[in-house]
Amino acid sequence: MAGIVVVFDFDKTIIDLDSDNWVVDELGATDLFNQLLPTMPWNSVMLFNKLQDRMMKELHEQGKTIKDIEEVLKRAPAIPRVVPAIKAAHALGCDLRIVSDANLFYIETILNHLGISDCFTEIHTNPGYVDEEGRLRIRPHHDFHTSSHGCSSNTCPPNMCKGLVIEKIQASLAKEGKKRMIYLGDGAGDYCPSLKLKEQDFVMPRKDFPVWKLINENHDLVKAEIHGWSDGEEQEQILLQIIKTISMEDNQFLSVDCKFQTIPINAVHEAITKALPVPY
Ligand SMILES: [Mg+2]
Ligand SMILES: [Zn+2]
Repeated sequence: MAGIVVVFDFDKTIIDLDSDNWVVDELGATDLFNQLLPTMPWNSVMLFNKLQDRMMKELHEQGKTIKDIEEVLKRAPAIPRVVPAIKAAHALGCDLRIVSDANLFYIETILNHLGISDCFTEIHTNPGYVDEEGRLRIRPHHDFHTSSHGCSSNTCPPNMCKGLVIEKIQASLAKEGKKRMIYLGDGAGDYCPSLKLKEQDFVMPRKDFPVWKLINENHDLVKAEIHGWSDGEEQEQILLQIIKTISMEDNQFLSVDCKFQTIPINAVHEAITKALPVPY
């Protein structure tokens, strides 16, 4: 199973909400946010993460601390069953990564709190760090000031094209001998990476969310196998079923170098038997 890479979006794919909105709302800054919105140049309004950085400046000036932000992030609920699904996929030897338009500070704080940060090998997102004044700074993943990321899809914001990230991962995987990718997401920004997946890959769009609509409207452009999910239970079942299917296809099941032997056999049994047939 070392040959499988599972790429997760973060907001509304791992946690049950949008982390940017959650922090603003929970810090009682929704009105401030709405006041700030019309004062930003129109191209900054498009740049949600630039707006977030400005929000953090205002909140810092109002006396909100990093600790306050951390406390809010720790209250962010994970989608039920997604944490066990991530742990199971990791235990089965899959290489898990995150590609998200949130920011590193939010993602790391929440993953640490959920006890699953060790399950991921890479996080591709907007840089987020605490500066010397104790203010959270949020920077673009792609510096659009120097150049465009080159993707013309109107579903990709100027600070991040997840499709480009997937292409870079694919290039490095070719060197590592990893073959299959499973991509999970919900938002419009998850559409571009879905188009980059190959025939042997799988895309798991969240049903009735923007990426689901886009994929359904452009079915012919998607080469990967499409498996929709609605809630965490379905995400867990489908993900583990796909992993099982791939491992059987690749004939790695219970092979000598398989990670299965490093975890209790009853845990494997539980993970596999829970996985139901994959619905479209
Ligand atoms: Mg999302
Ligand atoms: Zn793109």
